[in-house]
Formats: sequence, C-alpha cells, structure tokens
Amino acid sequence: MALQFIDSIDDSKIKDKKVLVRFDFNVPLDKETKEITDTTRIDNALETIKLILDKGASKLIMMSHLGRPKGQVNSDFSLEPVATYLADKLGEEVTLTESCLDRGIKTLLTLNSNKIILLENLRFHKEETENDREFARKLSEYADIYVNDAFGAAHRKHASTYEINAFFKNKAYAGLLMKKEIEALSKITQRPETPFVAVVGGAKVSDKIKIIERLLSSVSNLIIGGAMAYPFLKAKGNEVGTSLCSDEDVSLAKKIFSQSTAHKIILPIDHIVSSEFGGKPEAVDKVGIPDGKMGLDIGEQTIAKYSSILREAKTILWNGPMGIFENEEYAKGTFAIAEVLSESNAYTLVGGGDSVSAVNKSGLANKMSHVSTGGGASLEFIEKGSLPGISALKFGVE
Ligand code: AMP
Repeated sequence: MALQFIDSIDDSKIKDKKVLVRFDFNVPLDKETKEITDTTRIDNALETIKLILDKGASKLIMMSHLGRPKGQVNSDFSLEPVATYLADKLGEEVTLTESCLDRGIKTLLTLNSNKIILLENLRFHKEETENDREFARKLSEYADIYVNDAFGAAHRKHASTYEINAFFKNKAYAGLLMKKEIEALSKITQRPETPFVAVVGGAKVSDKIKIIERLLSSVSNLIIGGAMAYPFLKAKGNEVGTSLCSDEDVSLAKKIFSQSTAHKIILPIDHIVSSEFGGKPEAVDKVGIPDGKMGLDIGEQTIAKYSSILREAKTILWNGPMGIFENEEYAKGTFAIAEVLSESNAYTLVGGGDSVSAVNKSGLANKMSHVSTGGGASLEFIEKGSLPGISALKFGVE
C-alpha cells in the first residue's frame, strides 16, 4: 500500500474524528529556567496541527518524547514548556495530561472543551522505548486515526512510532513535516541529478561508515572533512600527529579503500592544526600532519579544491562539519562549505545535527534547498531508503 499523507486524504476521515499525532517535540531546554532554547521542532509541527484543526477534528491528541528520562517520571523532562509555547502560538488552550496513561484522559475525550490535548512525556514509561504492544494499544484507544509527523524519531522502533500502527490499519497517515522530509531525501536516494557530490564531516567514522559505503555507489565524488578525514589519511600512509584518529576507524577506512568505488573519495590536502585542542591555530601546507600537532580544520587549499568540485555539482548532500566549527578560529572550512552551497544552483540538502547548526550559525539555512530536521533519521533514510516509522505507516506491523 502507498504511504498516505494527511493533506491528501478525504476530509471526512478527519472531520469530527479524534486524531492522535506523534510529533518530535524533543526541544532543548535551559537547565535553570526550563525555557525552550530552540523552538524549531515545535514550529515545524504547526502546519500539521493547523491542517488537522482546520479540517474539523473533534480532538487533537499530541504525543512526544523529550530527553532521556529512562522510563522514570522526572519533572526536568516535562512537556509543560511545550504546552505553554503551543498554546501561545495557536492562541488556543492546550491541556497537558499528568501522564500519557492518565485515567482522566478518557473523560477529557468526552468533553466538548479541551479540544487540544498534549500527553505528558512518553518516555516517562519504559514501555515506549521497549516498543511495547500493550502500551501502544492503550495510546491507540484515545483516537480514531493516527498521524506520524515525528521524522526525527522515525528511525526508532518505539511504541508511539512503530508498534502503534498495529491498531490503526488503513487509518495511519504521514504528517506534513514527514512528507517534506521524504520528498527531499528521495531526491538524494532516487536518481539524483549528476554530478552528485556528498560532503561528509564530523568526528566518527564508525557512525557514518554505512552511509559512506552506500553513498559511494551513487555519488560522483565523496568529499571528506573534519576529524573523519584523519583515519582515511592515515589508512593511505600519511602522518596525522595527535589528531583524533582511532585504530578502529583506520581499519574501517582501509576497508573502504579496498573497494572499487574508493577513487571517488576526496581528502584534505592541507590543514589548520594546533598543539592542543582549541589552542593557537597554525597552517600546515601539506597532507601529512607533523608530530605533536592535531588537525582541527581543513586548510585554504583544501577549501579551494572542495569549493571547485562543489561548484560543478547538480546535487549536494552535506553531513558533518569540516572542523571544530564551534570555535571561531576553526570554523572557516565549515562556513566556506556553507557559503559555496548557498551560492550553488544545485539541489542542496543539509542533514545531521552539527551541519544543521553550522548552517543556522552562518545565517545561510534559507539558501539551502532542504535542511533536514532529523540527524540520525536522515542518515538512516539515505542509507536504507526508508525508516521503520515510515514503513509501519505504509504496511502496518505484524
Ligand atoms: P558528528 O556528530 O560526527 O557530525 O561530529 C561533529 C563534531 O565533530 C563537532 O562537535 C566538531 O567539533 C567535531 N569535529 C570536527 N572536526 C574535528 C576535528 N578535526 N577534531 C576534533 N573534532 C572535530
């Protein structure tokens, strides 16, 4: 069965119905004040919320996780700030339940008032991450139809994203954020316009090994930067000084080099280094990094080389920074990539937490074709072509 999107189904399927929606309201909170420090994830949900309300749902029941309370009730992870923010944004009352399994919820659902309900943090119950069927069944009893708009959580097989589909056969839909993400990521996974160039950076090869292998079969070039580059440089016999570079990652890099697609890999040719993490920056004008120095950003010649490859591309995927961009002195490589992408006519997709914060920091996010909201989810989608939370909407679960 094809995936059904909430905006393309008949209005009668929503009108006067109770609609249960899984969102990703996992927003960062200030430790002291509990204020939301970045509301992007809630803002991204507003379109789906408004659509459901406009189509005349009798109840909108929202659910999400926040942080990692590990199956325990912990007020530090309450969704209360989210309820307050949503009420303000929608100009309507939002009722936060005491628990997602609160006995009062069934009564709330019979009242004409309390139209918008937010269930308290799903992860206060260990059954959520255990993908427990009974827990999913209890949640499913609140509503007539189910919508999943939590793209950022769709790579997880949890009760509210996966198992719950067992109770909504032919009544499970993808929300508008989910739709946007699937459409954007499919441009990368299904016949991308060529040259297709991927830029992969960040810190850990082992986390991204699968996506690198997958991408190497479809890209014209795979540009590597950040700490990801050193295991690859070392695997080719270069010195990397004290740069972040584990033996395990060097082995993984060697494995990639043994494959026939390895010629597509492009590595840094110079570096910005320091004697200590975040210390005084020095330029190293060659591929090898001297003893006692650690690479912390790509160098000028590398920026020029990477930029010229990217200028020829028609499709660009970017995941992971080129250096420790959180420190201004080592942010040049990362911001240079953001700049080239922003000037490009190519289809540009930025995925993954740190490259997203880099494009936000550079003020260039709105110049990208798509900035994905899910770090792990976008990588896994590219690797596998779908996600458990999306497949379950389509096919249900056994
Ligand atoms: P990831 O989560 O794998 O995308 O890694 C992102 C992190 O990698 C950021 O916090 C960067 O500061 C860090 N990073 C990037 N380049 C380097 C480097 N050369 N050495 C150490 N850490 C780095």
